[in-house]
Amino acid sequence: MTIAKFHGGCHQIGKSCVEINTKKSKILIDCGMDPSDNGLPDINDSDVDAVVVSHAHLDHCGAIPYFNFKKIFCNPPTADLMYNVWKDTVSLSKTYKEEDIKKSMDVIKTVNYREEKQVTSDIKMKMYDAGHILGSSSLYLDIDGKKLLYTGDINEIETRTLRAADTDFDEIDTIIIESTYGSPLDIKPARKVLEKQLIDEISETIDNGGKVIIPVFAVGRSQEIIVVINNYMKSGALKEVPIYINGSLTHTTGMYMGYSDWLNPKIKNAIENRINPFGNLIKGGDEVFSREPCIIISTSGMVQGGPVLQYLSLLKNPRNKIILTGYQAEGTIGRSLEEGATEVKPFKRAIPVNGKVVKIEFSAHADYNSLLRFMKKIPQPDKAIVMHGERYQALSLAMTIWKTLKIPALAPSIGSVLPLFD
Ligand SMILES: [Zn+2]
Ligand SMILES: [Zn+2]
Repeated sequence: MTIAKFHGGCHQIGKSCVEINTKKSKILIDCGMDPSDNGLPDINDSDVDAVVVSHAHLDHCGAIPYFNFKKIFCNPPTADLMYNVWKDTVSLSKTYKEEDIKKSMDVIKTVNYREEKQVTSDIKMKMYDAGHILGSSSLYLDIDGKKLLYTGDINEIETRTLRAADTDFDEIDTIIIESTYGSPLDIKPARKVLEKQLIDEISETIDNGGKVIIPVFAVGRSQEIIVVINNYMKSGALKEVPIYINGSLTHTTGMYMGYSDWLNPKIKNAIENRINPFGNLIKGGDEVFSREPCIIISTSGMVQGGPVLQYLSLLKNPRNKIILTGYQAEGTIGRSLEEGATEVKPFKRAIPVNGKVVKIEFSAHADYNSLLRFMKKIPQPDKAIVMHGERYQALSLAMTIWKTLKIPALAPSIGSVLPLFD
């Protein structure tokens, strides 16, 4: 019997990690770090045969260098992006060291989308495009003849940079699905509406002579937002002001250019015709604090660590604005801003928040309707396991899948041990 043990990403977003035990082997799907407290999954790495990684976000790959793994499977862009995530982690949290990164890099085996790979003697894998960030994958595993689909983080619609998530799988016995926006309350406005909101908010601040801070993750949403802003500036609908970004963003945005084959066809064509879809980006230095209006796009997305912290002092000035563009986990500065904090304390001294705080969910995740559409497009599984959502979202999606699609569904807690197939 194949057993799944859930080490993280249960009733939470953070440290996603599922252990799969078969008669002959043991693998991990993802091995993430909790972005709010740098928490790691509680696992014994000695008998793990391999780790398969869905994508290069901290909550899916951040813990890997802390452990000693024999083999790590991911695709080429994920390997490159992951290296960046690990480097940032070394400088921010000191959970592991530079040598640990090297040791992990040495055991990476890369796989392309739709290429079949033997992971262990009784587990085969194919990666499919998950539409969430560059290189993001849904993992389709053949475990001794039974089929598991681990969606990873998915986006079911095409975006400015990526294709929509693939749904053309062969039969599925069990699905493990994300539930970031798994409750019926999580229905998001259309992309176009969000883009318009973002541009209106930026224009308002720039017209008042202020600065806009946009905290982002280095990968994914940041490139989407940069493309949107660049398009509006080029068309004249948004006034041209300097756009400052930080080092790791320069690097990852450059990587998007290098992996144009992995992007949606429109942007791939632009890049191949030598049109830079990201426009003119400037590496931020002291000039960011000058009096001129500007846009600052900086990591980290939940305002928990990263260069964005040094720009929070700008919020003393009521003319300036911070635009949160994604999910803010509990316990992060981003979340406290979202909940109306009157001051924040990125370093020793508290900073009063006088500037406007706006949230525009420019998410790289499928919303509730999108998750249901995804479930209806794929071959119907016999069983659904819901992860990667806060408690209410995870339980809501499990309930919806059971009620509307008649597929038995559950949202395991951390430490749960379940038979993977019926
Ligand atoms: Zn992700
Ligand atoms: Zn995630």
